[in-house]
Amino acid sequence: MDFITAYIYSIVFILGATIGSFLNVCIYRIPAGLSIVKPRSRCGSCERRLTARDLVPILSWVLLKGKCRTCGSKISIRYPLVEALEGLLFVLVFIRFGLAMMTPIMWLFSAIMTVVFFIDLDHQIIPNKVVLFGLVVGILPALYAWFGEGGYPFYFTERLFEPLLGLAVPFLLMLFMALFSVVLFKRSGLGMGDVKIYAVIGLFLGWGYALLSIWIAFFLGGLFGIVWIFVLKRPKEAMIPFAPFIVIGSMVAMLYGYDILTVIYR
Ligand SMILES: [Zn+2]
Repeated sequence: MDFITAYIYSIVFILGATIGSFLNVCIYRIPAGLSIVKPRSRCGSCERRLTARDLVPILSWVLLKGKCRTCGSKISIRYPLVEALEGLLFVLVFIRFGLAMMTPIMWLFSAIMTVVFFIDLDHQIIPNKVVLFGLVVGILPALYAWFGEGGYPFYFTERLFEPLLGLAVPFLLMLFMALFSVVLFKRSGLGMGDVKIYAVIGLFLGWGYALLSIWIAFFLGGLFGIVWIFVLKRPKEAMIPFAPFIVIGSMVAMLYGYDILTVIYR
């Protein structure tokens, strides 16, 4: 890697980490029903308003050794981890799509998915607000597909209704599986949030790559379930949130789906 490439990647990483810092606010405040813009961030213990030097992504946490500057109470390592994760995702998206409109669109998608991952992990819900936001900005990939140069890489044809297929097909498949599991096992392994978020994923990834992400999610979720019950000897009844697997599946399908499909259909 030459100097210029390393420099560009660093800038992209810092951009992603900064967005990640905002996503931390979303992850904490949206399930609590709080505004994501006001008030400014405060320490959870001493209520001191955080200043610019407390809010530098990753670095502030490291320099403060994970403690509040004023009261010394512990700040979760989750905050710098989410920031670093988003920075990494931004770099991976940039490597995959380069200097194209696809890059900011997929940055946006990765940000929504990061929020879904951690809110579901914490509360076993995907808030309707997040789904709604995803559906609204999901018009961007559709617009790009219809009017952009060179077509949308996740759509298989140039037909006008590809975004509609993306909106409907993965959603209906998930809905069918959720209902099926209720009938068959008398309980639902899938929540309605898991079903609804697939309308958003389908808009961004198109129906084909969204289906691939469902496959990856169930594969990883099943693998985790086996480890959970047989290796860790944890109770079968425990609720394992499923959205994190959906998010990992979507990120893998977005970044490496083309390579996976090429291997399968070679
Ligand atoms: Zn404090």
